[in-house]
Amino acid sequence: MSFAAHIITAYPDMFPGPLGESLHGRALADGLWHMQTHDLRGFGAGKHQNIDDTPAGGGPGMVLRADVAAAATDHVTAQADMPLILPSPRGVPFSQSLAQEWAQGAGLIFLCNRFEGVDERFIEARQPLEVSLGDYVLAGGEMAAMVMLEAVLRLVPGVMGKLESGADESFSEANHGLLEYPHYTRPQDFEGRDIPDVVTGGDHEKLAAWRRAQAEAVTQSRRPDLWAAFLKGKSDAAGGFKRKKG
Ligand code: SAH
Repeated sequence: MSFAAHIITAYPDMFPGPLGESLHGRALADGLWHMQTHDLRGFGAGKHQNIDDTPAGGGPGMVLRADVAAAATDHVTAQADMPLILPSPRGVPFSQSLAQEWAQGAGLIFLCNRFEGVDERFIEARQPLEVSLGDYVLAGGEMAAMVMLEAVLRLVPGVMGKLESGADESFSEANHGLLEYPHYTRPQDFEGRDIPDVVTGGDHEKLAAWRRAQAEAVTQSRRPDLWAAFLKGKSDAAGGFKRKKG
């Protein structure tokens, strides 16, 4: 079975959207992954199939009803045993390690919301994993689901030409959690700037050391959080192998 993306949304026409283009689009056409949208409105309540209502206790906007969210997600989880993701600014931060983990699985179910929020009782009862793209507020979960899927799908075997090119990148274990080294290509001279000699010199060991030093420098200057984690990992590893005296 290929990797399955289930999207519960009131706007199914948004999909596959950008995921239908380029590498991911080709992989979709080739059956390396597949996508199924589930229209939230089909699970709406009453004659008018309402999916949202005004917030209890007052406040701006509307709230996705718990019974509607539950009916839609139950319909999908009954046919697909995979993580249920609720994109939300309150969630755990999305990361390359989550993407790696999800890419090993059978697929993902996304519940996309476009309101102020989802009735908390749905979250308590169905326990979706709330995942955030970052500390900013989008208008809905659809773009968040697309971003997460784009990151996950490029790690699904076969989607990218060479699997290696998905593994040794910024944030990856193979790259020690660091940001990536700089890249160069033709022309050799761009507005008087040459490609560094070490890059084109042909000494692979020297180049690897230079790239590593560049990755460390850019991480240290731009991302103190990643740099601190990298240093901690190094000292933990050193401490772990200390010999006992005597
Ligand atoms: N009232 C909410 C924001 C609602 S935005 C709050 O203050 O936290 C509408 C929907 O967009 C959210 O329910 C969520 O599904 C999605 N969304 C917004 N920002 C997001 C983010 N940073 N990451 C993931 N999903 C997000």
